[in-house]
Amino acid sequence: MGLNFFNIELICSNCGKTLKSGDEIVAHITLPSEKKMPVGRMDRVLSKHSDKVYCKKCSE
Ligand SMILES: [Zn+2]
Repeated sequence: MGLNFFNIELICSNCGKTLKSGDEIVAHITLPSEKKMPVGRMDRVLSKHSDKVYCKKCSE
């Protein structure tokens, strides 16, 4: 058991860089309805619900 924040690999939608724990990221998420509000691990929620994820470089 590690302390890895990202068990699920998140990849920048623009440059394909693998986003690691400690990286600053920008995610575009469609806010779901209250009933379907995602609850859980941040990485899982992001990989499942985010439309696009960018590394810091691509978000600037
Ligand atoms: Zn990028």
